[in-house]
Amino acid sequence: MQPPSLKGRYQLMQRLLFSHVTAILPDRLVENAWVLCEGGKIVSISTKKPKGSVEIVDGRGGYLSPGFIDIHVHGGDGADFMDGTADAVRIACRAHARHGTTTIFPTTTTGSPEQIHAMLDAVKVVQAERSVENGARIAGVHLYGPFFAEDKVGCHSAAGRREPTAAEYRAYFETGLVRIATCAAELPGAVELYREAKKRRCLITCGHSNASWPEMAAAFKAGMRHVDHFWCAMSNVASVRSRLGVPMRGSMLEYVLGTAEMSTEVIADGCHLAPELLEFAFRLKGPRKLCLVTDANRALDLPPGNYRFGAAEDGSWFESDGRVGWAPGRTSLASSIMGMDHMVRQMKRDTSASLPEVVRMASLTPAELTGIAKHTGSLEVGKKADLVLLSRKLDVRRVFIGGVEMAL
Ligand SMILES: [Zn+2]
Ligand SMILES: [Zn+2]
Repeated sequence: MQPPSLKGRYQLMQRLLFSHVTAILPDRLVENAWVLCEGGKIVSISTKKPKGSVEIVDGRGGYLSPGFIDIHVHGGDGADFMDGTADAVRIACRAHARHGTTTIFPTTTTGSPEQIHAMLDAVKVVQAERSVENGARIAGVHLYGPFFAEDKVGCHSAAGRREPTAAEYRAYFETGLVRIATCAAELPGAVELYREAKKRRCLITCGHSNASWPEMAAAFKAGMRHVDHFWCAMSNVASVRSRLGVPMRGSMLEYVLGTAEMSTEVIADGCHLAPELLEFAFRLKGPRKLCLVTDANRALDLPPGNYRFGAAEDGSWFESDGRVGWAPGRTSLASSIMGMDHMVRQMKRDTSASLPEVVRMASLTPAELTGIAKHTGSLEVGKKADLVLLSRKLDVRRVFIGGVEMAL
């Protein structure tokens, strides 16, 4: 009888030994490390060569990093997850794997319920294929749009924004795919959405919001613990004042900085936030409560030009200048066009965070926040061999998902 073909599947019996690498652990670097993987998992990390015959992967003096985990990402290489086709999902996941992301949470934009369901259906198809050739593994969906505040809709299509209703979001949760749920805290029905998301054990986040401190406090009570892209499309004292008048009130910013349990994320592409803001976020929240995200759109790895943010059929237009996305008229930014490797390099360059701390913010911290750290997110015995070989300049050389190398 013919054995089932393993081509393109996670091959479980392969033994791989990484040599000539500096291993990036969550709290330190290990020079001249030997990292042995078997059955798709890490089985030892040592400074002595393990015995037995194995296939050797020569790291040529570079770094061995845990694969990156992106909790906020819209697309890449011409595809947006909201295009709603399995092909679009595969293209975007492959593009991000080339930039070192091995676990991804496809993120919805604003759009019609039909478009969001099409996206969820497409993600389900690709997730079930479990093929390394599809790139980053899908750990779940980030339900991001459509429940944004009207005055903080940002570059998303305003027509696809609305207030939450139980019938709508329950249908999304019922798919079992949603692992991260965003809603603006000041919207009617937000607290009920948070409670439902908490029952489903989602990471609950407030984003595209002009919420005040008391609204954040009510959201926190219902389970909200995270804020999307710090400083972008979120409230500050001045914006809450224009909404609610005097006295000046606390905003999302003060709430996140003043509440130890709150986590957040930054777009460290060098275009959204100046170095001092990245340093400030790192100093105030630390590497266990701050994530790096790409928030990348379909223009990742494409030439400068005009593209749609969100669904191909009716997403809002933006312009990529080859470094970042711009809303029409170039008065505000429209998400990033960079992969996670870029964010890691930029964060290292712009802040006082050590390399293990920077990598933690792109791997273990998002894994912990989304409840998958038991299986992935760091170089640790027993975890999946989701690994990236980086050069000394932190450029991606080779990518392994579950111990199987992906063709870049
Ligand atoms: Zn956003
Ligand atoms: Zn986004």
